[in-house]
Amino acid sequence: MGMKVICPSCGRSYSSFVPPRCSCGAELEISYDYSAVDVSAWKKREKGVWRYRELLPDVKRVITLKEGGTPLFKAKLSDELNLNVFIKDETRNPTGSFRDRLVTVAVSYGLPYAENGFAVASNGNAAASLSAYAARAGKEAFVVVPKKIDRGKLIQMIAFGAKIIRYGDSVDEGIAYVRDLAGLNGFYDITPENNIIGLEGQKTIAFELWEELNPTHVIIPTGSGSNLYSIYKGFKELLEIGAVDEMPRLIAVQPERCSPIASEILGKKARKEITKALGLYVKDPVSKEKAVRAVKESGGTAVLVGEDELDFGERVLVNEGIFAEYSSAVVIPALFRLSEEGYFEKDDRVALIVTSSGLKAYYREEKFSIGGTKLEILKLLGEGERYGYEIWENLEKPMNYQAVYQHIKELESLGLIEKSRRKGKRLYYRLTEKGKRLLENFSE
Ligand SMILES: [Zn+2]
Repeated sequence: MGMKVICPSCGRSYSSFVPPRCSCGAELEISYDYSAVDVSAWKKREKGVWRYRELLPDVKRVITLKEGGTPLFKAKLSDELNLNVFIKDETRNPTGSFRDRLVTVAVSYGLPYAENGFAVASNGNAAASLSAYAARAGKEAFVVVPKKIDRGKLIQMIAFGAKIIRYGDSVDEGIAYVRDLAGLNGFYDITPENNIIGLEGQKTIAFELWEELNPTHVIIPTGSGSNLYSIYKGFKELLEIGAVDEMPRLIAVQPERCSPIASEILGKKARKEITKALGLYVKDPVSKEKAVRAVKESGGTAVLVGEDELDFGERVLVNEGIFAEYSSAVVIPALFRLSEEGYFEKDDRVALIVTSSGLKAYYREEKFSIGGTKLEILKLLGEGERYGYEIWENLEKPMNYQAVYQHIKELESLGLIEKSRRKGKRLYYRLTEKGKRLLENFSE
């Protein structure tokens, strides 16, 4: 079996790294020997991304945290809408988002080429995920993320010890930057806009949906369009192997404020402004064409969602028992809109893809605090090493020395500060590399 990537135009083949386009300009697509796939073998295996290994790249070593195999359950709002609505809960993935599907495949496949580490440009979830999987693989992760980013995702990256590079206003700028960074430093770049290998993992959402529901419609939060495209590819392969006769209609949902893909589908003028759904803030998606084509070929449509509808979406999902980020909650107002317009028929089976957990998404413009006193201690040590009593004095807080000392001990156990030297009775502390990174990221 095994994966094949051959340019349909010039015949050049690709293996270590698969760009979206061949050097001759033609679009590349990863394919397999579909006649050899026996889906009955899948049922006997453990749930998860690697259950579908015949339709994944061959790898020497699988780097996994048991991603995929996420629950699909009937939504309570099915009764309200008189429609069969199911939620695919991707928040249950190891780092809390659907991107773990992409990363397990990209990291496992790229491992032999990642001597100096892995890199990704991302507006959050893929970077948080790579940080975890690279740690598991014993490799460094270099993540290029925009200045505006959800704090929770940043905290994940810091916790996993990723090297964080803040670059650009949105992920768009980071994509070209990481390509150069990876090229110059010998990192394996898993950014799906630069290397499509990871999309093979993401497409397994389609396989799971088919096994459990065989939906007629799939409603997909859309930013870069990569999730949409990979779900499309998954269903296309199910068609290819004869598992389904028809592709479900794919529905792309974007915020009104940033809508390059949905607007194109609807024939409207696109806006490219910042949105509260930060995960969907992609101004010029590289895979726009592919995503638009996927929706059209499936017979689907697109929906634009207002900023004021995001809280409604979050609340409805909360009533279902799921805490999702705004970028996922967009599927709810989209579902209601289409339902009101009479888009669905009574027996349709509608799947909502809830891509990422709300725990990761917290974002505020003001400065972040990891507990005010600890941050103040980090800032003091950012100016230079100090001994314990000196820190207490410099803080000028109505707090006894013991309490300050407790904070120092906790910062030390978090690996954010370390003892630098002893002079007489004085024990000096300084920031660790991790502490410096945290300070850089939280005090812009
Ligand atoms: Zn070519």
